Amino acid sequence: MTTTSTDAYAARLAETLPLVRERIAGAERAAGREEGAVRLVAVTKSHPPEAVEAALAAGLVDLGENRVSELASKVERFGRTDVRWHMIGHIQSRKAKDAAAVADLIHSVESAKLAGRLARVGAERGRPVEILAQVNTSGEASKSGFSLDSAADEIESMAELDGLRINGLMTMAPFVDDEVVLGKAFRALRLLSERLRASGRVGPQLSMGMTNDMEVAIREGSTMVRIGTALLGPRETAR
Ligand SMILES: *Cc1c(COP(=O)(O)O)cnc(C)c1O
Repeated sequence: MTTTSTDAYAARLAETLPLVRERIAGAERAAGREEGAVRLVAVTKSHPPEAVEAALAAGLVDLGENRVSELASKVERFGRTDVRWHMIGHIQSRKAKDAAAVADLIHSVESAKLAGRLARVGAERGRPVEILAQVNTSGEASKSGFSLDSAADEIESMAELDGLRINGLMTMAPFVDDEVVLGKAFRALRLLSERLRASGRVGPQLSMGMTNDMEVAIREGSTMVRIGTALLGPRETAR
């Protein structure tokens, strides 16, 4: 972790947050979508608590983390009253219960096994775990998620589980600049979503778009972008 002070993060956000909000608003306009249709999730992973403090002071309310332990320690410090915590990274099955305890929305449910564990936690506590199903829309071996071939069947089975509420879908596009390639990945997620929503058991959220591809994602129907670098600068740990 870096040791940047809260003031330094606040100064950075005073510059970057208006730019990011304008990028989102511009993309919404360009796509003919309603202003405010896309929620900004600020990804604070690998940044110290000072970054969270500055983000909350700047009015950000949706924060994303990709490790259960780091998420848990930030939740312990900042609470959950005025923050919505998003878990966006890989979750080991044995950490499922911990993740469900601290995350308001888990974007990264990438296997039937993890879904089953989370569903059990939700059923036991009498309140469903709020999730998105992560889909590997690019087919890249390095990417997690249900493969496009089997995603519809697997997600429909997940939707049968008590203890789980599937708010929608999430994907990560390939790390390329080619808008055609990016658009294809995001469109695949939207089309899958349209097909699944017909059943009425999968919600409309589409978590797609990061610093480098948010405009394309918004054009293709994103409802939630997960933005780290454009807001907080480079992370020290490569992730
Ligand atoms: C790190 C991360 C992000 C944020 O990426 P940036 O390029 O820094 O905006 C978004 N989504 C996931 C799943 C991540 O792991």
